Amino acid sequence: MTFEPVLLRRTSLPRSDSIDVYLANDGYAALARALRDYAPGELIGLVKASKLRGRGGAGFPAGLKWGFMPQSDGPKYLCVNTDEGEPGTFKDRELVEKDPHQIIEGAIIAAYAVGAERAFVYIRGEFFQGIKSWIKAIADAYARGFLGQNILGSGYDLEMSVHRGAGAYICGEETAMISSLEGRRGEPRLKPPYPAEKGYWGQPTLVHNVETLANIPHIVNHGAEWFASIGTEKSTGPKIFCVSGHVYRRGVYEFPLGISLRELLYEHAGGVPGGKAIKAVIPGGASTPPLTADQLDITLDFESLEGAGSALGTGAIIVLDEDTCMVDVARRSARFFAHESCGRCTPCRVGTQRAVDVLEAIEAGRGVPEDLDRLEALCHGISGNTFCPMGDAVVSAIGGTLVRFRDEFEEHISQGGCAAPA
Ligand code: SF4
Repeated sequence: MTFEPVLLRRTSLPRSDSIDVYLANDGYAALARALRDYAPGELIGLVKASKLRGRGGAGFPAGLKWGFMPQSDGPKYLCVNTDEGEPGTFKDRELVEKDPHQIIEGAIIAAYAVGAERAFVYIRGEFFQGIKSWIKAIADAYARGFLGQNILGSGYDLEMSVHRGAGAYICGEETAMISSLEGRRGEPRLKPPYPAEKGYWGQPTLVHNVETLANIPHIVNHGAEWFASIGTEKSTGPKIFCVSGHVYRRGVYEFPLGISLRELLYEHAGGVPGGKAIKAVIPGGASTPPLTADQLDITLDFESLEGAGSALGTGAIIVLDEDTCMVDVARRSARFFAHESCGRCTPCRVGTQRAVDVLEAIEAGRGVPEDLDRLEALCHGISGNTFCPMGDAVVSAIGGTLVRFRDEFEEHISQGGCAAPA
């Protein structure tokens, strides 16, 4: 499949992050059109018609989210989620560092549509180049009249600023992010109420992932019908996939949703080094269950992956070749989630650490047959019993690997350790 990139179209240009390059390549034309030709409610209708689904992991319909924001007067906010911390995910970084104005333009249009007066960019603390990129791009947008008072003479005002997080994975969850923005400990809040009803300081707040917002200028420029013509019937638009692990050409790729996993890995990412076979593919970041080698013909869209018992997640595709130890994969994921648990609820805080202990014992050859029952019981105890979705992410990563590769776990136990090449 050949596909003319939409979101990554400018990223290969010299100085692609500069506002001059952005303006020379249709930049801010969609904002001018949105402010001139659309009432806020019409923009919400446009995004609904495009069937754009959020690109941050959950895949919630963006237009529906906009529609949940109340029409009433009073303060409203927009948060741009640049906390990208899901293992295997590096797509937002590409956009922030190489084409930040595309995100800013999308954010201003979204803020205008829902009546927000202030936008916060929440960015992961270790993301140094991205922070610099955001600060410069926002300053340049202010200097050219795209932010601040009376944007492009429309009478609409929007302030935007950057807030650095401290590197906690859980702050990518929208309510934890809002807590952190307010200066509190980054812990999730109970939903409902959802942020669109009660978010930042109890006011309606729209939270969107970077890639989701980057789509907005293109929908305004080319129309909802054009956008919906890309991808599948229910998973519309272009998608950035981050391909890593055992492939020749790791990196970011943009294709319509619905491309086949096999095509992406073998025709575009160059296949597996040494001609080895693929054992598993994690399709949407560490919190999605792995696919097995007989599922390579699956198409990469929300529905197909859900139907296969996994998820599109962030589109972070981690390829694992035939020599990979799947017990070690589960152990590493569990260790990550145990470290990143915010500690608020017991099933996640204790259960995840307990799973690490069991997996380390199996990997080191100290496992006993009952350990598999223990792992299942831990997953059962965590699933649906935690305060935020991270508990379910843990179960997807550990339980999903155990279900699909149980024979490897059993082999580790019966043979006293790992037989995979180091
Ligand atoms: Fe914190 Fe984990 Fe509970 Fe989420 S599930 S609130 S990350 S302890």
